[in-house]
Amino acid sequence: MKLYHKLTTLALASLLVFFPAKSVSQEKAKEIKQKHGAAILMYHSIDYGAGGMNVSPENFRKQLDEIHKLGYKTARLEDIIKSKVSDEKKVVLRFDDSRESQFKYIKDKNGKNIIDPKCAVGIILDFYKQHPDFGKSAIFFVIPHVEFKQPEYSIHKLEFLLQQGMEIGNHGYYHYDWTKAKPEEIDKTYGKAMQRFEKLIGKDAGRIQIIAAPFGVVPRSEETKKEMNIIQWNGKKYRFIGIAYAYGSNNKVCPERNSKEFNQYALPCLEVNNTNFDSVLKKLE
Ligand SMILES: [Zn+2]
Repeated sequence: MKLYHKLTTLALASLLVFFPAKSVSQEKAKEIKQKHGAAILMYHSIDYGAGGMNVSPENFRKQLDEIHKLGYKTARLEDIIKSKVSDEKKVVLRFDDSRESQFKYIKDKNGKNIIDPKCAVGIILDFYKQHPDFGKSAIFFVIPHVEFKQPEYSIHKLEFLLQQGMEIGNHGYYHYDWTKAKPEEIDKTYGKAMQRFEKLIGKDAGRIQIIAAPFGVVPRSEETKKEMNIIQWNGKKYRFIGIAYAYGSNNKVCPERNSKEFNQYALPCLEVNNTNFDSVLKKLE
C-alpha cells in the first residue's frame, strides 16, 4: 500500500513537472479518464458453442468494431497498472483458460501453418491491419499445461504473443477456487505455473506479472488476500503487480488509475458473451 502511494505521488509530481498549465484538451482528457477508467473485457472461447463462455468469431469481430467506433484503443493491463497509458478511452481484451479458439494454428491449402483467421489472435491481428489506431494489445491468462490445446506449438505461441506486444498472465497450474483454497495451495498453483513458464520460455517468463483468479472469485480469508501478490514455491519467490477478478461485484468498468477506487490487486472486468454486449456497451458509452 505504501508503495502504491509513493508511486501515485511520483506520477502526480511528474505530471506537474511536464504539464504546469492545463489546456482545454487536457481538461477534456481528464473528463474521459475519470468517466471511463479502463474497460477490461473478459472472454473465454471465440467459438460457436452454446452457453455464456462462447462468443462467435463474427460477433467478436463486430464487438471490436463497435468498441473502436466508440473511440476506444486497446491497452496493456501492465501499462494501466504502471500508469503508462494516455488518457484516451482504453479497452483491455482479456482471455482466460488458454482455450484453443483463442490462438490456433491450422494448415492452409499448401500445408503451411497459418493462424486460424477465426481464432481470437487471428481476428485481433486482422482488425489491427485495417485499424492500426486500435492497437493489438490483449492479455491471455494461460493455464500452462493447457497451452491453447496445441502442445506442439506451446513455446512458439507464448513467444509469438510477447513479440506482438500482447501479454501473458498466470491463471495458475490448477484451476482452484480461491474461496476454498488454502494459502499454500495458491502458492503452489501460481508457483508451479511460473516454473512451467520458465521451462518453456526461459527468462521471458519474468514478463508474466499479473495473475487471474479462476472463476473470478476473491479469496475469503484476509490472510490469503494479503499474500496474493507474493507467491513462494519450490525455493523461489515471485511478485505480481496485478490480480484480476471477475463476476459479481467485480463485473464492472475498472476505475480510473489515479482514483481512490483503483486497486491493482483487485482488478474488475466486464464479462462478455454473445447476448450481453449491448449492456456492456452501455457501461462504456
Ligand atoms: Zn478460468
